[in-house]
Amino acid sequence: MKPTQVLDYFNARRDSTVAMIREIVEIESPSYDVERSRLVALWIENEARKLSLDLEIEKIPEKKFGDHIIIRAFSKREGKILILGHTDTVHPVGTKILNPTRIEDGKFFGCGIFDMKSGIVLMLEALRFFAETGIEPSRSLTILLSCDEEVGSFTGRELVEREAADSDVSFVLEPSAAGRVKTGRKGTGMFTLKTHGVPAHAGLEPERGASAVLEVAQQIQKLHSLNNIAAGTTVNVCTIRGGTTTNVIPEHAECTVDVRFSSMDEASRIEAAVLDLNSFDERVSIEITGGINRPPMERTAAVAGLFEKARSIGASFDYEVGETQVGGASDGNFIAALGVPLLDGLGIAGDGAHRLDEHILIDDIAKRAALITLMLMS
Ligand SMILES: [Zn+2]
Repeated sequence: MKPTQVLDYFNARRDSTVAMIREIVEIESPSYDVERSRLVALWIENEARKLSLDLEIEKIPEKKFGDHIIIRAFSKREGKILILGHTDTVHPVGTKILNPTRIEDGKFFGCGIFDMKSGIVLMLEALRFFAETGIEPSRSLTILLSCDEEVGSFTGRELVEREAADSDVSFVLEPSAAGRVKTGRKGTGMFTLKTHGVPAHAGLEPERGASAVLEVAQQIQKLHSLNNIAAGTTVNVCTIRGGTTTNVIPEHAECTVDVRFSSMDEASRIEAAVLDLNSFDERVSIEITGGINRPPMERTAAVAGLFEKARSIGASFDYEVGETQVGGASDGNFIAALGVPLLDGLGIAGDGAHRLDEHILIDDIAKRAALITLMLMS
């Protein structure tokens, strides 16, 4: 089948695809909402079962998060392609009142539509294409949708790593960057720094106190001095809290630290420096928790090769595919760390991830579906 015919197929299905996206977006499913996570997994399972394909569907329940779901197709084919995504969103239930699911001027708005419910529908649409045309993908397909990606993949990580380990290649349908796929992502670390001081009356005997707030303020400056933008490393204190009341030298304070890095060397440098922090005032003790969470996804030769393939497949039906490297991490970072080549950010073009103007572009739906399906075939 010619690439333009694959595009025709998805163009003809556009209204049905839009209807499916609308349905899955309407099932709001924030991380930690077990019931809604199960509902969305059930919706996906039902949609997959409507296809006349031999599928193995497995749901993995997690007490705190809901259901991870794995769909396997064409299991008899040699080799394996892992198609990755997540069902959780960052928007609390009810947020859809603030960003109603709707189409305006070619933009399809909705909570979690870009990150990444429309990506899930693309996966189902690719399966439908194979079911209806009788064409088969080049390898067996495993779709893995985790339910705790937005909060750090505490339970999903193990599954991602297990499924990636024997994969030849992986496609991650996370949001694109204005249509560009992601060939590099920074790694992430999260720390919490708590200080414990000595309380005292701020008017009567302040000298007997040792301020936990002052200590945190000094530590913040030290933390920010670890930034090295040229090396791709950023360290930012993003929340701060402390004090008891207005006339007491503060006994407690704390801050959280967001760390991003492009190489593991930088990750080690920052981790060592953070864990090595000493208090400025010896009467104040400091306590540090957290660590490196996701390793960086580097643009290796294999990743560059995959991108080149995507670019030329896109060109075969006049669709321009660009690439970019970003600071945000995804589960793709775990896959990259195993040495499995991957393309990330393969989702439909759009904008506003984690925001109230979140949307995808209607015009890009069929093109993206065609690109992914052709990638699976080649
Ligand atoms: Zn996402």
